Amino acid sequence: MSVIGIDLGGTKIAAGVFADGAIQSKTTVPTPEAGGQAVIEAMASAARSAMEAAGVRARAIGLGTPGPLDFKQGIIKFAPNIAGFTNFPIQRLLEEASGLPVYVENDANAAALAEHFLGAARGAESSLFVTVSTGVGGGFVWGNRVLRGAHGQGGEVGHITVLPGGPSCGCGLEGCLEALATGPAMERMAQAVYKREVGTRELFARFQAGEAKARRIVLQAAHYVGIGLASLVKAYDPEVIVLGGGIALNAGQAYLDEVHATYEHYLEGWIAPPLRLAELGSEAGLLGAALTAAVEVGEV
Ligand SMILES: [Zn+2]
Repeated sequence: MSVIGIDLGGTKIAAGVFADGAIQSKTTVPTPEAGGQAVIEAMASAARSAMEAAGVRARAIGLGTPGPLDFKQGIIKFAPNIAGFTNFPIQRLLEEASGLPVYVENDANAAALAEHFLGAARGAESSLFVTVSTGVGGGFVWGNRVLRGAHGQGGEVGHITVLPGGPSCGCGLEGCLEALATGPAMERMAQAVYKREVGTRELFARFQAGEAKARRIVLQAAHYVGIGLASLVKAYDPEVIVLGGGIALNAGQAYLDEVHATYEHYLEGWIAPPLRLAELGSEAGLLGAALTAAVEVGEV
């Protein structure tokens, strides 16, 4: 038996048939700029193409989407990168367009499921996934389920407070991990230090060459990741932590060493779960979307 995963992004839609723990066929199309119903039609069509390529009729669709979700009603509350996606009943509309049951998950939770079942945390009973890129996201998986919480805000690890009174965050509060550890956060610091625009690519090159200013900026960001992870261990006690995202995976070994050192410092006297790097890269979104459906129909 098989299910379909759909990874909906701001620029592209990937649909894949998933069976036997792997993607069997994959179709990728641009996300229609018109948004709304055009996105629904594009997803249903990509799902049909993926099924035709694999020669199967899937049982269900798992959909990974950006933006906060109302899981109970299958509604995207808002997705800034897709037109018309405010209070958008994506689950019902995709069910109508595809004729298949649809299970919706946010993209960070989907990636957490993928790393749990098929990536760096496979074999663990519980795992915490944290991704550090232009934002900080993640998910906690336990007993084959990703924690959504009572209101769909479980696993929003980017907005734990790591520096009270610190820089403003996109969520409207201040001192969140996301306001201190992401690419944009480092670029803001770099702008203040170098008195000009410095992108993360240049910053990382300077950091890896050992430049003092770049080291201060990047190691400080790593420090806050370590603090955040240590706090999350005390909340969830996962068997394994998986760290992913463009910043965490590309900053370099000195960055990871600082994350580790801080993590262990703030877990002195506690059991520190192993910290592993994500293995699935950009496929995590599609695999996780498929796993969302596979878990619901009892194929995992
Ligand atoms: Zn925040």
